[in-house]
Formats: sequence, C-alpha cells, structure tokens
Amino acid sequence: MSQTTPNREPLPEETYRALIESAPDAVVLINSDGSIVLVNEQTERLFGHARADLLGCKIESLVPMRYRERHQLYRDRFFSDPKFRPMGMGVDLWGLRRDGSEFPVEISLSPIRAGERLYAAASIRDATERRKAAQKFRDLLETAPDGMVIVNTKGLIQLVNAQVERLFGYKRDVLIGQPVEVLIPEDTREQHANHRDGYIEAPTLREMGTGKELWGRRKDGSRFPVEISLSPLETEEGTWTTAAVRDVSDRKAADDQLQQYARNLERSNRDLERFAYIASHDLQAPLRNLAGFSQLLGRKLGGDVDKETAEFLEFIQGGAHQMQELIEGLLQLSRVGRTVSGKMTAVDLNEVLTNVEWRLKSVIEARSATVESAPLPTVHGVASELSQLFQNLIENALKFHRDEAPRVEIGGGKEGGFHHLWVRDYGIGIPAAKNEIIFQIFKRLHTNEEYEGTGIGLALCSRIVQHHGGRIWVESEPGAGSTFHFTLADAV
Ligand code: ADP
Repeated sequence: MSQTTPNREPLPEETYRALIESAPDAVVLINSDGSIVLVNEQTERLFGHARADLLGCKIESLVPMRYRERHQLYRDRFFSDPKFRPMGMGVDLWGLRRDGSEFPVEISLSPIRAGERLYAAASIRDATERRKAAQKFRDLLETAPDGMVIVNTKGLIQLVNAQVERLFGYKRDVLIGQPVEVLIPEDTREQHANHRDGYIEAPTLREMGTGKELWGRRKDGSRFPVEISLSPLETEEGTWTTAAVRDVSDRKAADDQLQQYARNLERSNRDLERFAYIASHDLQAPLRNLAGFSQLLGRKLGGDVDKETAEFLEFIQGGAHQMQELIEGLLQLSRVGRTVSGKMTAVDLNEVLTNVEWRLKSVIEARSATVESAPLPTVHGVASELSQLFQNLIENALKFHRDEAPRVEIGGGKEGGFHHLWVRDYGIGIPAAKNEIIFQIFKRLHTNEEYEGTGIGLALCSRIVQHHGGRIWVESEPGAGSTFHFTLADAV
C-alpha cells in the first residue's frame, strides 16, 4: 500500500476535483451503490447542503421522497448500461433542497471509469426558468384557436395542444413520439414524408400545399379537410416544425354548396336565356303579321270606318308595336356576350357616340334637345354592345325630361386602370330608394301612358357593363336630374 504501487487505482476525487469545480453546473459523482463520492461548490449552493454532509450519502437524498424508489431502479439501469445521456427524457425531474423545498432540474449523466470501478457523474442544472418558459409556451399553444402540432427534425410529434386531441380524436400521450404521418390519410403518407424532408431543408413560415386540398385523418380513420401553416421552431435539438392545423370542413361545405348554387344558377340562366331567345324569335313572325295585316286592314277600310273601329285598329297596332319593342329588347338582352360579332377590341367611344347621335337624330330634333359630350376614351369592349349602352342611356335622358327641352351631357375620365364614364340629364330624376331596382328587368317607375317603354333598357345596360367587367350605378335628385355612371376597362 505504498505510494509506489504501480497499479494503484486513482481516486476520482483526485482526478476530477479540479475539473468539476470549474464546471458551470452542479456536478455529483456517485459510485455504483449510489453513494455520493464527490460534489462541487455549485452542488452545495443548489441544494443547500454542506459538502461534508453529502459525501457518503445516497444520491436519493437529493431526490424528493416520492421518486426515490424509482430513482434507484434507474440508477441500477444506468450502471448496467453506462453511457452519456440526458436523464429522464420527456419526464419532469425534481431536486430536493435541504430545507425540504423542491425545484425542477435537468440532469445529464456520464459514466466515469477509474480502473475497475465505475462512477456516474450527474451534471445538474436548475431548470426553474426553462420550465417556466416551457410552460408559458405550452399555455400559449393551448390558447391557440388552431390545432398545434410540434414535430422534431425526424418528423416525430413532440407536443400537441387540446385542439389537436379534439380534431383528431387522439389522447395527446398517444401522439407524442409518433410520426406526424399518423395524422394524415394513409395514401398521402409517403408523399408527406418526402415533403417534410424538403421543408426541413428550407424551413420558412408558409402555407402548406398551397392550392392543394389537404386532408387530416382522425383516429377512427375518417378524413376531414384542413388548412395548415408551417413555421420553423429553433430548439437545442435542431429546427423543429410547428404546424397550425385548421379544420375547414364547414368552410369547404359552404364553398361546395356555393359552387353548386352558382352552377345551378348558371344553368338556369342559360336555359332562361335560350328560352327567351327562342320565344322572342318565334314570336316575331306572327307579330309582324299582326302589325302588317292590321295596317293593311286600316288602309283597306280607308276613311269609311266609324270612330270606334278606327280606335280599335289603333289599339291593335299600338299593342303590336309595343310587343315588337319588348321582343326586340329581350332578344338584345339574351344576345349580350353571345354573338359571334361580339369580340372585344379597342373601341373608340367618340365614334360610338357619333353613330348613336346619328341614329337618335330625329328624336333629338323633335324634342329640341341638346346633347353635349367631352372627348371620350378608347376602351376595351364590344362595339355593338357599347353602342346599345350609350343609346339606351341617352334615350332615357331624352325621354324622362321635365317641361323644358332635354339637355344631355356625356363625359368621362380615367381612374386607375379603368375609365369612368357618365351620362347626365336634367330631367325628372329618380327617388334614391329606387336607384338599384331600376336596373332590374321590367322594373319601371311609370306607366306606359306617362312614359312609353318596356323596362328592359337599364337591365340591358347593366348586363352589357357586367359583360365588360365594369360597374353601373346612378346618382340622382328627383326634380333635378340623373347621372348614370359606369366603368369600362382601358383598351389593351
Ligand atoms: P324604360 O325606359 O323602358 O322604362 P329602363 O330599364 O330603361 O326602362 O328604365 C327603367 C326605369 O328607370 C324607367 O321606367 C324610369 O322610371 C327610370 N329611369 C331610367 N332612366 C331614367 C332617367 N334618365 N331619368 C329618370 N328616370 C329614369
């Protein structure tokens, strides 16, 4: 037992004292019986024990009573398979101070060999702050409105919130440690795993699978549509991924229903249009006969008719004429956006207006009206439709005038990427409550005796503007006049 014994086993105290003293954390060295062999000053400070009181004691004296038995088992397990590792992965560990108070700790264990003997060095850190922060993070996660799933670099679920339990029907303990693919339908799992690898290589905050339909899979195997946004989460173990999962079943159902409505509406619109077209087209011929023959009859009877017969003939002709107008209006309406000649081109509105004024020349003169216009732009549109639009608005402006001669002004200007045009009159005006309804088909504010018409004109204007991707509306003051505004796209 002299100092010169060649194979003298170096005592861990001697070898490691200086080393553990300089460690930032508390370090406790124990032998395979669990007896404390060495501690550093940080250990004294952390646990409130004097060094001398600890040496020779069982390590379990630093562990709360309720964990001691289990701790011994773990200790034995460590010594039977000694390797460096963090202690109690995924479990909250607690230390016991001399005064009986407990505090959260994080521990890593390393085996130390001294000759034949094996020791365990436990490096212990006070985790109060970290666990508080982690708790705060978890609380935050719980209050999130979406299901939150946190996945590590290997794609294993590390943390989920209550919303995930509710959405997917799993208890959270079951999910922790599972590949995140358990939450998606089987047929997309492989693809997902590949995408996941891709994400980990370039993690950013983004929507997942933009433009694609994503599905979640519940525990019972049923699937539901989801929206997912991903964000990277820096941790000590690398960049994890936070996925916010939202169940969009309700929205999708509403969307689907809306689309179905739109399809139905489109179909019934098409049917109606076809019906209107065929009906009006087929009505034209007999009507022409009616008008023509009543005219012939009038001529044949010449001046030999009594007053009443002449009046009846006039009614027939008037009725036929009105019906012709109505049918012509309906045909025009059903033609908007459908005619072969209706290609969108650059249309000079000055030319359109000149033609319209020429067509309305006799009405303008008969009413001693003035029509003034500022230079108009060239727009992107269908010339024949734009011509109808101006004609209807100007005809109305000439028709709904007060006692004095009608005055119509036309102008417009560029606003952003489109043109804003207007047709103004100083006529009878329109009550504010009727500003929208007048654009509906057959909605008229007057009888035929007051002002002739069919109630189709503004519906036609509205459809034409819509077909051009624009908007039409009216500003008016009863007794002072109306301004019809509309927007059209710039020529491309
Ligand atoms: P119509 O002119 O054949 O009656 P419209 O669809 O062109 O049908 O117009 C619908 C209704 O809107 C008209 O009956 C009229 O009451 C009102 N209206 C349209 N334009 C004007 C206007 N410039 N001034 C006053 N009222 C108008």
